[in-house]
Amino acid sequence: MFAGKELAKDLIGKIQKTASAIPKDITLMEVCGTHTQTIAKYAIKSILPKNIKLISGPGCPVCVTSQKDIDSVVELALSGVSIATYGDMLKVPGTKMSLEGARQQGSDILIVYSTTDALKLAGSNKNFVFFGIGFETTAPMSAVAIKKGLCVYSAHKTMPNALKILVSSKNTKIDGFISPGHVSAIIGSDAYKDINAPQVISGFEAVDVLASIQMLLLQIKKREKKVETEYSRVVRPEGNTRAKSVIAEVFEPEDTEWRGLGTVASSGLKIRAKFAQCDAKEKFKDTLKHVKEPKTNSACRCPDILLGLAEPAECRLFKKSCRPDNPMGACMVSAEGACAIAYKTG
Ligand code: SF4
Repeated sequence: MFAGKELAKDLIGKIQKTASAIPKDITLMEVCGTHTQTIAKYAIKSILPKNIKLISGPGCPVCVTSQKDIDSVVELALSGVSIATYGDMLKVPGTKMSLEGARQQGSDILIVYSTTDALKLAGSNKNFVFFGIGFETTAPMSAVAIKKGLCVYSAHKTMPNALKILVSSKNTKIDGFISPGHVSAIIGSDAYKDINAPQVISGFEAVDVLASIQMLLLQIKKREKKVETEYSRVVRPEGNTRAKSVIAEVFEPEDTEWRGLGTVASSGLKIRAKFAQCDAKEKFKDTLKHVKEPKTNSACRCPDILLGLAEPAECRLFKKSCRPDNPMGACMVSAEGACAIAYKTG
């Protein structure tokens, strides 16, 4: 059992009592892959009342990166551009191949742990691109590196408009969000104010998640829709103003495609014209214009999983042809991917 056993027992009792006073089924989405890991590690689903369901959301950055972006960076690699990126991105399948496949064909693909590593490796190489993915948590590091001259293919995304899509979609039925702690530390709790749903920004310990579930149930019971912060030891209403300022200096919002959600208005981070010399999409546009519309694996249910419409076990490839050592879709690649977590934890 984890630290905070007595607190956890108390919270479980409160959750059961509050849930019993809500006469309907409730679906809560944990947006962030790190929350999915905590929920799986401590088997939190197994102790929830029958009318409370948890579903995973689009908060794993590797999972939501579009196949078009994967195909584009593979194309750059095959054309002779050196690519640096985070390790998980190598395994995500593209239409022709993954970045790992490009590496096996002789392309220069480098794994980095930070943009500082990428800057060092880039040196004076004019044919060097950092494939930047992730949300408001990783975007400030990319922004700082761009200011220092690193050429970046930006697949960065911002979270609030994606949550609005989930709230307004007819296909999804989400009664409340366990909202991401790391992203919220940057953008602040005020960033979610115009999302019309109960939301609790949660920390990552099991007791944080349990406390957030209880806070959401209390909102639902009282028919409230507001943003609360359980992770108040880190998240402030205004967020991290320095990080937000460097993001705004280097990037501007653009419509962008998310795996699962499709195109989400103003949820991408495009490098501003002022930094065009560091924008791989500008610098290598002649190579990128040859990238065709992606062909997706129709058997892979990642889009449904990222919308909370299916569980990994409902995919016919799960644990058969699709495994962490042979991922057929993005959700099996990252440790934060719902399929990879389900594979490891059962
Ligand atoms: Fe896609 Fe594999 Fe998950 Fe199926 S098990 S949805 S193929 S990642």
